[in-house]
Formats: sequence, structure tokens, C-alpha cells
Amino acid sequence: MTVSGILKSKGGNVVTIAPSATLADAVKLLAEHHIGAVVVVDENGGVEGILSERDVVRLLGERGVAVLSTPLPMVMTRAVVTCTPDEVMPVIMERMTRGRFRHVPVVSDNKLVGIISIGDVVKHRVEEMERESEALRGYIMSA
Ligand code: AMP
Repeated sequence: MTVSGILKSKGGNVVTIAPSATLADAVKLLAEHHIGAVVVVDENGGVEGILSERDVVRLLGERGVAVLSTPLPMVMTRAVVTCTPDEVMPVIMERMTRGRFRHVPVVSDNKLVGIISIGDVVKHRVEEMERESEALRGYIMSA
């Protein structure tokens, strides 16, 4: 299964925020949308950074609530690992495991076109295992 196959069923909508926003704005967005990460994009839809709930917890723990007024570019992760729609899910799983993050923005022609989360990866893997066990059951029954 490719990334674009996953995006076909879940859609390409990504919650984004502008680099001019503060950490408090990003926290509000995460809470409103019940999500774990927000992608920071420039006016052309290019990925500038990512901020996840883990960053928020770490920053609050290290610097206290005063950090909430910090502009996003000063606290977001800038070296964002992305994928393209034509890549396959096992490669994305590997990328998440190696990088120890749970969100991979999907980029095509330098524009953000979707996001794959660890939840999407698990859902895909469970469905794949169900299909495999169904096929095995059919094979055994017909033997
Ligand atoms: P997460 O597991 O997604 O909550 O993210 C854990 C840490 O990795 C946080 O510091 C994030 O800012 C960072 N992070 C999340 N996704 C990515 C990504 N695709 N590329 C680089 N860093 C990321």
C-alpha cells in the first residue's frame, strides 16, 4: 500500500499553522482538533517545521508557562522528515521507528498534501493482518 492509497481513504486534510504564530496558538490548535502534532507551513504551503505534543510537554517542563508566548520558529522542530505520496507504508513505518516520531508530513512538489500518523500506520497494519489471516483461513478450509 502506498502513502497515496492511505490518503485516498483518510483524506489529505492537515491542520497547519503559520510561522508567525506562538506556542500558545499551536497548543490551542492541538486541543481544538484533538491531534498530536501541527505542521508549520509558509504562505506557499511549504513545510517549515513541526510541533508535537511532546515538544509542548518538554518545553513546559523545562521553561515553565512563560514559554507559551514564544514564536513557533524558536521552538518547533525544523529538520522535518517527510515522505512522498508514491512511497510504501513499510518504508514510512521504518522511518517513524528510526526517527522516534509519530507523524510524517506528505510532500509533493514542495507542497504539503497530507500527513501519516502512527494511528494510520497501526490501522493499516491491523487491516493488512486481518486480510492475511482471512486468506489463510480460506486456504486451510479449501485444503
Ligand atoms: P511525535 O512522536 O510526533 O510526537 O514527535 C516527537 C518529536 O519528534 C518532537 O520533537 C517532534 O517535533 C519531532 N517530530 C515529529 N514528527 C517529525 C518529523 N516528521 N520529522 C522530524 N521531527 C519530527
